[in-house]
Amino acid sequence: MHGYVDTLRQSRLRQRLADSIAKKGISDTRVLQAIGQLPRHVFMPADMENMAYVDRAFPIGEGQTISQPYTVAYQTQLLQVQPGDKIMEVGTGSAYQAAILAVMGAEVYTIERQKKLYDRIRNFNFLTNFPNLHFCYGDGFRGWPAEAPFDRILITAAPEELPVQLIEQLCIGGLLVAPVGKQGSQRMIRVTREAGRHFREEVFDHFSFVPMLEGRV
Ligand code: SAH
Repeated sequence: MHGYVDTLRQSRLRQRLADSIAKKGISDTRVLQAIGQLPRHVFMPADMENMAYVDRAFPIGEGQTISQPYTVAYQTQLLQVQPGDKIMEVGTGSAYQAAILAVMGAEVYTIERQKKLYDRIRNFNFLTNFPNLHFCYGDGFRGWPAEAPFDRILITAAPEELPVQLIEQLCIGGLLVAPVGKQGSQRMIRVTREAGRHFREEVFDHFSFVPMLEGRV
C-alpha cells in the first residue's frame, strides 16, 4: 500500500484496535490481520482522522456512516473469506469494508446507490492500491447480474427482508451475510446456498445499520 501517511502512533493505535476487537470475540486471525494492516484514518473525513482507531461508526456525509470496526470484523468473519473469492458488496459508503475484503485477497464488486458517494470513491487515489476492487453506481437490490454468480455477498445496509434476487446471484455453496429487519430490530443473518433451490439460514446478533433503500439517487 502506498500514497498515504502512517505515523508510528497511528500504526500502534491500529494494532490496539485489532486487539480490542479480538477481546470482543472475533477470532478469525486473517480478519484481525486485515484490520491491523489497513489504515482506517485515510477513509475518515479529514477533521475526524484522530478518531479513526476508536471502535465506533462515524458520519461520512450524505447521511451515511463508515461502519464500526467491530461490525466490519463481525460481518467479515461470518463471510469466511478465502483469497480469490468473488464477492459482491452492497453499500460501498466509505469503501473501508470493501478494502478490508481486498486486503484479504478477494475480488470485490461493490455497489453504491448515492452518486455523490460513488463519485467521491472514484476520486479516492488510495484505492488504486487495490486493482481487485470494482465499483458500480447502482441499486444493490438488483445485484450485479453481469458478474454473477458470486462466492460471497455482503450487504452493509439493512433491508427489511432478505432480498430474494440477491440470493439468486450466489454460487452453490456460496454465503450471503446481511443485517435484516426494521430500524431498531435488525439481526445479522447468514444464508448458505446448499444446492440449486436449497438455502439454509442462520441468525446471529442484533445490529443497527442504515436502511437499504430502493433505487439510485
Ligand atoms: N460498507 C460501508 C458502510 C456503508 S453504510 C463502509 O465500509 O463504510 C451503507 C451504505 O449503503 C450507504 O452508503 C448507502 O448509501 C448504501 N446503500 C443503501 N441502500 C443501497 C442500495 N439499495 N444499493 C446500494 N447501496 C445502498
